[in-house]
Amino acid sequence: MRLTHVLDGLRCAVCHTVNGMWLDPVRGLVECRECGQTALTVPVPDARRSL
Ligand SMILES: [Zn+2]
Repeated sequence: MRLTHVLDGLRCAVCHTVNGMWLDPVRGLVECRECGQTALTVPVPDARRSL
């Protein structure tokens, strides 16, 4: 069973690698396999904020 999934189209904010991010459902975060940058995947509650 595969626990990680490649996130298509997602770009790393640090090294700008596209399709280099993968989701770690155990830790609930996204990690870049190129530079090791991690980012939380928790939905932003303030998403409805718009111009
Ligand atoms: Zn990166």
